[in-house]
Amino acid sequence: MTKSGVRVRIAPSPTGEPHVGTAYIALFNYLFAKKHGGEFILRIEDTDATRSTPEFEQKVLDALKWCGLQWKEGPDIGGPYGPYRQSDRKDIYTPYGQELLEKGHAFRCFCTPERLTEMREAQRAAGKPPKYDGLCLTLKAEEVTTRVAAGEASVIRMKIPAEGSCDFTDGVYGDVSIPWDSVDMQVLIKADGMPTYHMANVIDDHLMKITHVARGEEWLASVPKHILLYRYFGWEQPVFMHLSLMRNADKSKLSKRKNPTSISYYSALGYIPEALMNFLGLFFVQIAEGEELLTMDELSEKFDPENLSKAGAIFDIQKLDWLNGRWIREKLSEEEFRTRVLDWAMENERLQAGLRLSQSRISKLGELPDLAGFLLKSDLGLDGAAFAKIKSTPDEILEILNTVQPELESIVEWNVENIEAKLRAVADNMGKKLKVVVAPLFVAVSGSSRSLPLFDSMAILGRSVVRQRLKLASQAVASLVGPKN
Ligand code: GLU
Repeated sequence: MTKSGVRVRIAPSPTGEPHVGTAYIALFNYLFAKKHGGEFILRIEDTDATRSTPEFEQKVLDALKWCGLQWKEGPDIGGPYGPYRQSDRKDIYTPYGQELLEKGHAFRCFCTPERLTEMREAQRAAGKPPKYDGLCLTLKAEEVTTRVAAGEASVIRMKIPAEGSCDFTDGVYGDVSIPWDSVDMQVLIKADGMPTYHMANVIDDHLMKITHVARGEEWLASVPKHILLYRYFGWEQPVFMHLSLMRNADKSKLSKRKNPTSISYYSALGYIPEALMNFLGLFFVQIAEGEELLTMDELSEKFDPENLSKAGAIFDIQKLDWLNGRWIREKLSEEEFRTRVLDWAMENERLQAGLRLSQSRISKLGELPDLAGFLLKSDLGLDGAAFAKIKSTPDEILEILNTVQPELESIVEWNVENIEAKLRAVADNMGKKLKVVVAPLFVAVSGSSRSLPLFDSMAILGRSVVRQRLKLASQAVASLVGPKN
């Protein structure tokens, strides 16, 4: 334990591409630990077994490392309070579910998914928020024992006070009061014995001696459940700090439909991690104009968690570009710059794979930039005219682009085989030849109708870059189609 005793964590769920929002929360925690001489730890919250994958977990680790947010304890390096992956901690949680049942703070619920769906539909139809109605709350102990012994599936739910409110002080929101009747009787242990997020999160924060919980504001409404669990167990609760979410310039929630949100997108485009951290860190410091360029050490010196805004951190890409440019020009030595460029080009084997595909397709090395340059470009700068040579009409191209995009999102593991299989399936479903479907994709992804093989190129570029290129292509083609679309 450090002198200050401060222990904070980032607890990502590996259910998708690592998001800049995760880097933002991780950076806050990292700076908080640094400021207080405390410890920053990484815990993987993979209680949602259907959506968590080892591939995404690896990506989270890689992305946070790329950001320079090194943790002191974590699933890859261990530590005194491990394991640090919730799916490896199942046996740790079981007795706690039992303890709550024995103390009368929780109850077994045998309601089937069908009954719960009916119940929610009825509540919705009556204009009420969906919430467990407490049917199993009144079951007699003997009946519960008999049904469990008979092997009937059940979950463990927490009891919630019938009246009053949960009052607490949040480090960002100040005094908060949430009425208990708006809090659901949360499932704590699922039928398969795995805990839900809420149960595992509280137990782990306690066992891992977390002193401050800083996370996104979307968890503010869950605090009553968490506080109640701390009380039921008789544990001291941590200090809660709920940070406002990052938003698009129009104040809408940052989402990949509007702006690229994957950390891997920014690394692939050649943003440098210090600049991204500098950009995100500016939301946590009070500085005068002209003082924006800050290293991690400077950020931690100026770090001021007392004065955070509730208004939301605007993800202003132009500001990020400006800072990134300044980092490149003002902070990197000539040698560092050269190393960065080479490291970046070789990241994820981008350059190596591009050269492998190019070797059989050129007669002079100087043809490489035209052939494979699209793999490194941050922006292809395409307009509608780029699609003019394609035989399909703009309407048809737009239909292809718009059909392909959501289909690509459903690919779990982003690789050549899965991309090819998906695009073949899309072509079949659309009743079109594969050739017709891939023609506009070629242009959208590479900027030209003659280039490296498409599926390989998409695999090399990565999901987040392809997503953005297809989105920009749709916009470019939509401008040809005119207002009727
Ligand atoms: N697993 C949660 C998430 O990914 C963590 C929330 C928390 O920090 O408590 O958002």
